[in-house]
Amino acid sequence: MSKIIHYGKLIDSDVPTTGVINTNEVMWEFMDNDEICLVCDEAIKEHSDHAGNEDFGYSDDCPNCKEGDSYCIDYLECDSSHTRLHGDWILDTNTGLYDYDPQGEFTMIENESTCQIIFSKTIAKGNPCSPCFVGQVEFSKDGDFKAYTLPEELLYKRE
Ligand SMILES: [Zn+2]
Ligand SMILES: [Zn+2]
Repeated sequence: MSKIIHYGKLIDSDVPTTGVINTNEVMWEFMDNDEICLVCDEAIKEHSDHAGNEDFGYSDDCPNCKEGDSYCIDYLECDSSHTRLHGDWILDTNTGLYDYDPQGEFTMIENESTCQIIFSKTIAKGNPCSPCFVGQVEFSKDGDFKAYTLPEELLYKRE
């Protein structure tokens, strides 16, 4: 086992940390469709906070509707710049924040071209990532650091 300080954060090779993979490593066709988009959720919440929960259409009370002169959710486009959650998450109804389900299969955050697996029953080995992902691990054959990854059936085989 080894421990290193990775850009100011301690990584212990025996304690799994967050694993980082590229979105093109994921077999999205086998991924559950119950993803949560934090950006879209926020936009919908903003609309209903202004318009009242009953009104799912254009509202003069919603600044986003007024700005676009139409129902704001209609021109909301979910693209890769949005942060999406996949896997088993639990919503804390008091705080409105999501946390991983310790009984779940995996919990993953997708943004742009990167997926971060913050918890999983599946663990693999790799090496610490570039400083953009402090304290997190990228997978490789020669790696010595444990990190969470997706179940094998959701990943393209590594050559
Ligand atoms: Zn609106
Ligand atoms: Zn979205």
